[in-house]
Amino acid sequence: MFEQIAACRSCGSGDLELVLDLGIHALADGLISESQLDAEEPRFPLTVALCTECGLMQIRENVDPEQLFCRDYPYFSSFIPSLLRHSEANVEEIIQERTLGSHSLVFELASNDGYLLQHYKKHGIPVQGIDPAEGPARAAEEKGVPTLNTFFTRELALALRAQGRRADVIHANNVLAHVPDLNGFVAGIATLLKDDGVAVIECPHVHELIRHCEFDTIYHQHHCYFSVTALRPLFQRHGLTLNDVRKLEIHGGSLRLFASHRPGESESVRAVLAEERAAKLDTPEGYHSFGRQVAELRTKLLELLTRLKSEGATIAAYGAAAKGATMINTVGIGTEFVDFVADRNTHKHGRYMPGRHIPIRPAECLLERQPDYTLLLAWNFKDEILAQQAEYRARGGRFIIPVPEPTIV
Ligand SMILES: [Zn+2]
Repeated sequence: MFEQIAACRSCGSGDLELVLDLGIHALADGLISESQLDAEEPRFPLTVALCTECGLMQIRENVDPEQLFCRDYPYFSSFIPSLLRHSEANVEEIIQERTLGSHSLVFELASNDGYLLQHYKKHGIPVQGIDPAEGPARAAEEKGVPTLNTFFTRELALALRAQGRRADVIHANNVLAHVPDLNGFVAGIATLLKDDGVAVIECPHVHELIRHCEFDTIYHQHHCYFSVTALRPLFQRHGLTLNDVRKLEIHGGSLRLFASHRPGESESVRAVLAEERAAKLDTPEGYHSFGRQVAELRTKLLELLTRLKSEGATIAAYGAAAKGATMINTVGIGTEFVDFVADRNTHKHGRYMPGRHIPIRPAECLLERQPDYTLLLAWNFKDEILAQQAEYRARGGRFIIPVPEPTIV
């Protein structure tokens, strides 16, 4: 079941202009088990629109949350070493800057398996995770990170506040795009945050998405694609100010935003706003070349894979994440090209990619089978994966990096 939204997810305006149509897609997180192979997979349209009122890029389709966020969510953040280092550095900096201690309280919304909060806990700082996914929430509890296994909403924030629990720091990394009720979520942050607290929010930057043709980060679980231009009025609506912003390289180019009840914007906020205005990200014009680039990338990648196959090459892929599913389903890559998708996450082994049903195997399979080429679906962890696969490359294996345009390394 799905419905198409008629109004902007942030400001409620009806002025939504279509900027990209990616066709019909199976759910990108819906890995298929052996027994499900013959069953019909639910498929939904995937279209992207821009709100010409507030400048928020968003998909128009709302899939029933029961179908969208299955309880068997196989993503565990702790399987990604660079993500662990990234969070630890962030935590150390915040502890020092804000002189946190045993009197403080730190929340993380979508805390997954406690990959971030564990770094606070190490310093004796009380933490509280909130995450609706059962498996990761259980894993967090096992490592001593208390976790409420539920969705974060304004109602939950009010209940916590009524218990006298308010936050010195709220982390929300890569979750804002997932929430069905954007305004309720930000209102919840404003409710939970102490008067002098800070919310530290990370999300992919739509400017980088457009610039590097990262269309594969678009899928049904990602409702919104943020610019500072669009985030600023969203936070203001709930009494919060974006005081500061930093650009990060993670996930193909992200923003780390610092929001609080305190007024005042740093020079960095003004600078990013000016860049976004120059790129016309608040008007459909800024997105015109994006659609064309996606079509070109699709053609080039298909031509490359077809040529390599015709030359007798064997091809695998790496990274059975949601963006990999968007890539293979948009371009049309199935087992006629790719024999298997390698991934380090043991929870995914023995399952199949949604839509195209390519089997998922342990990362070691690259060395066991030594395919001639490996399509790097998880290009956002390129440096890390290329380093891990030094042996595969030394033996002559080559990687195909799909974005911003297909390149062999
Ligand atoms: Zn809007």
